[in-house]
Amino acid sequence: MISGVRMVMLGRQGAGKGTQCVRLARHYVVPHISTGDMLRLAVKEGTEFGVRAKAFMDAGELLPDEVIVGVVDERLNQTSTTRRGFVLDGFPRTVPQAEALAEITRPAPLDLVADLQVDAEVVLARIASRRCCLDCGAIYSVSDPPKYPWHCDNCGGDVVQRDDDTEDAVRRRLDLYDRETAPVIGWYGERGLLVEVDGLGSADEVSARLVAAVDERVAATRA
Ligand code: AMP
Repeated sequence: MISGVRMVMLGRQGAGKGTQCVRLARHYVVPHISTGDMLRLAVKEGTEFGVRAKAFMDAGELLPDEVIVGVVDERLNQTSTTRRGFVLDGFPRTVPQAEALAEITRPAPLDLVADLQVDAEVVLARIASRRCCLDCGAIYSVSDPPKYPWHCDNCGGDVVQRDDDTEDAVRRRLDLYDRETAPVIGWYGERGLLVEVDGLGSADEVSARLVAAVDERVAATRA
């Protein structure tokens, strides 16, 4: 079994990144680090940082690079991550963030960057029906609700539609993805780190594809 995987997950909002990152983190026994979840926690706790972050998030805009880079740098330098690896979700979203991540991970570079590929039309429909647990971030949908409406199966928290999952904000985030984040895919491609994975199909099918792709890549680079 591969240990200490260090990977980034890219993909449009609604491509299934959150769900698949949780599964990968369990499979490889590494922390799942989601910048979106970290920011939502700060918003919920009402910290000064959270209040500032919420304005960007509700508008469907990205936080300034230097702010989010600081957050990720601190998190990746915690010993659990340094020792055990990580699945990074929601970062990097711009080329300057990718450059900063290369610097942060210089002592132990990334094994791979997976790009979970799903068309924009499909993700729009998925996001419209997405519901999330306010406490633990677990993801449900109108067609796959929690057992007791609308309380989380894992922790009993309230399961709601995210404030930034309105159609307007989602369209803005998808435009932003094409403008700011799509170049990140090319950037990693040029550096030989990119692995493309088809994100269509059931969660189990996509997980199996991802694990096969990660195992193959890590086995090849560490051989
Ligand atoms: P997510 O849950 O990954 O869709 O993130 C929700 C929101 O948090 C985004 O729409 C941004 O406003 C903010 N955010 C998360 N990650 C980043 C990042 N790497 N850079 C800038 N803003 C981010």
